[in-house]
Amino acid sequence: MDKNMLYRSIPKVDILLGDERVQELIDVYSKDTVMESIHTETDRLRGFIGQCEDESEAVAQTELLVPHIVRAVKAMHTPNMRPVINATGTILHTNLGRAPIGREHIKRVAEIATGYSNLEYNLEAGRRGERYSHFEKLLCKITGAEAAMAVNNNAAAVMLILSSLAKGGEVVVSRGELVEIGGKFRIPDVMEQSGAVLVEVGTTNKTHYDDYENAITEETKALLKVHTSNYRIVGFTDTVGIDELVPLAKRYGLPVVEDLGSGVLIDLSKYGITYEPTVQDSIRRGADVVCFSGDKLLGGPQAGIIIGKKKYIDRMKKNQLTRALRIDKFTAATLELVLQEYLSEEKAVQNLPVLRMITKPYAEVEKEARALARSLRRTNIAAAVGTEPCESQIGGGSLPLERIPSMAVTISPENISVAELEERMRRLPVPIIPRTVNDKILLDVRTVERHLFGTIVKQFQEMGL
Ligand SMILES: *Cc1c(COP(=O)(O)O)cnc(C)c1O
Repeated sequence: MDKNMLYRSIPKVDILLGDERVQELIDVYSKDTVMESIHTETDRLRGFIGQCEDESEAVAQTELLVPHIVRAVKAMHTPNMRPVINATGTILHTNLGRAPIGREHIKRVAEIATGYSNLEYNLEAGRRGERYSHFEKLLCKITGAEAAMAVNNNAAAVMLILSSLAKGGEVVVSRGELVEIGGKFRIPDVMEQSGAVLVEVGTTNKTHYDDYENAITEETKALLKVHTSNYRIVGFTDTVGIDELVPLAKRYGLPVVEDLGSGVLIDLSKYGITYEPTVQDSIRRGADVVCFSGDKLLGGPQAGIIIGKKKYIDRMKKNQLTRALRIDKFTAATLELVLQEYLSEEKAVQNLPVLRMITKPYAEVEKEARALARSLRRTNIAAAVGTEPCESQIGGGSLPLERIPSMAVTISPENISVAELEERMRRLPVPIIPRTVNDKILLDVRTVERHLFGTIVKQFQEMGL
């Protein structure tokens, strides 16, 4: 094999630039990105020829040089982050962006973000305002708290609270509540970052009132409760509730802080979900500061919401860390719209996708699954399509034991393996992420809203199974 001849057969840059397909690229995109791709793709080809033992394959790759350049330039200009269809049945899927936001809300946010807004401008007074002002009153009204603010996420909220209330001092927390949440967020590590010293009390399964009281010293700055969102300790257990901690803390003049994790604002037990203590419960029981995520069960944007007594919230607003953790205009605007829905529970359940999916009655899910299965069968794909009952999960480290009865569309491919079909689905223009069980693909319809059915059917049709 004459490698030198193969190297010489690689078209020179000016020849490539003269190619019609490359010319078209330059017209649509920029000459710089086209030149860059010409160089990287030519280098790649050279490397390929260097290693290749099969002459005809080297010739074939050389002929593909221009198509490869076209593909590279187009890929550079195509956004990599894109919508996917979550057919896993996990409603708060952290890898898939957690809480989806309603279309109407995003339209409104787009109006705000594409121009200027009163983010930090008080229109009545004509002077500087606060970015929390847009949703602080709403949060207070809904939860019964005196004051509120929000930072980037709940991990940041915990850090800010501890830094503001307990820096250089001690915080008492139960050993049963030393949580690690996904993404290596560990309560003990966050506390260390905040400059507070953690005083662990009790044991993994039992912590008593006396354990807290005995741990209080001159250095104690707060008592902390952490909701064990993503695990449950069952069996021989004992914990001290907020109701008991509040009087104890009061005697020593200390605040009680509660990290609720998910932060539910409505009683979900009405919809067949296990009762989860609400944010309102914590405030009513006397917690001084409560924090929770914006994009877990609340169903809003990523944020860490902090509510509680005004004197504490004021300290947090003044903390220098707040400047580093502050929310942007997208979050402030979305949070206001999402919280407004909570003024009526009916509206919240209807208009917030997370609550809509959690509360969707089984009968409705079943009907939709059958409709999707019918449409898929009509495409004549080479697969057995059916339906079967399954269970959805809340996810996002919320209500870990909860299973919601649901219905899945099942797909068993005839000519390829389940693993291969799963991969093909992932590579679709609108990727579909399913659950796979042994010999079947499962599309849990609870997390696939009806308006996506058309896209699913069309993509299966075009996949050429
Ligand atoms: C999820 C969770 C957090 C972290 O919240 P993010 O908004 O993901 O940063 C903190 N504490 C608890 C108890 C949680 O469940």
